[in-house]
Amino acid sequence: MRRNKLAWVLLTAALCLMLYTIVVMRSDNRISVILGGTDGAFVQSDSLTFADPNAPVDTPEPTVNIWPDIDITQPLYTIVNDENPLSAPFEPDSDKVDSQYCFSATLIDVRAKQPLEEMLQACRDAGHPIYVIAAYRSYSYQNNLFNSMASQIAYGMGLTGKDAYLDPEYQKAADQARKLVMFPGTSEHQLGLAVDLMDKNYRHPIYENMDQEMFEWLDAHCAEYGFIKRYPTRKLLLTGWDEPWHYRYVGKEAATFIMEHGICYEEFYAHYNPDFTYG
Ligand SMILES: [Zn+2]
Repeated sequence: MRRNKLAWVLLTAALCLMLYTIVVMRSDNRISVILGGTDGAFVQSDSLTFADPNAPVDTPEPTVNIWPDIDITQPLYTIVNDENPLSAPFEPDSDKVDSQYCFSATLIDVRAKQPLEEMLQACRDAGHPIYVIAAYRSYSYQNNLFNSMASQIAYGMGLTGKDAYLDPEYQKAADQARKLVMFPGTSEHQLGLAVDLMDKNYRHPIYENMDQEMFEWLDAHCAEYGFIKRYPTRKLLLTGWDEPWHYRYVGKEAATFIMEHGICYEEFYAHYNPDFTYG
């Protein structure tokens, strides 16, 4: 019995010594180890410390490209403005818009015809009698529009007669006209993919007087048919134009992105052409 007791005492003492040694060794040997890639988690002595889960984190740059995967060089995406005019002979492959939607014969690019007519019908079905007031315009038509505006202004300045345009002052009238009517070649209407839309009462674009619910419907649904609001008032400084009745066909993919993100076509176009300047 005494031997057994002695053995227990020795065994307990040995265990205590081992335990003491382990504790001393570990406390002398504090280590920091990065755990499996988790930033801020490391072992220190016997305790595990994590970074404060409530600490603010830097938002990482988005790594997923949300922009549509399109080829911006396709004719469908052609941008037309002061710096990017169309040539005088440019003509789209066009077809007549169904006459029930127009006050007079109107042509549109063949790619936009069916989507346009579907959009107009859906808009009418929603209770808004909508009409196309203008779509394709040739270079010479735009030239006439511009010249008549310039000569009207010149007339107001006292420049009359058939040779008025030869007067050096006429340039001022032409400069003013540029702010009111697009210069030949710089109108999207020549492209054939643009339409001016009106309600049944107004043949002239006085936006405030037109059916605002119709435009709310258009803005909410135009992308479903591949159209965008091309010159929204709030983007005047970027596009140069305030024409909230003017819609442009760019196809569903681009239109959906543009309308959902509230950007104008210049902003969209610039993403694919970093050297493109506007505004
Ligand atoms: Zn227009």
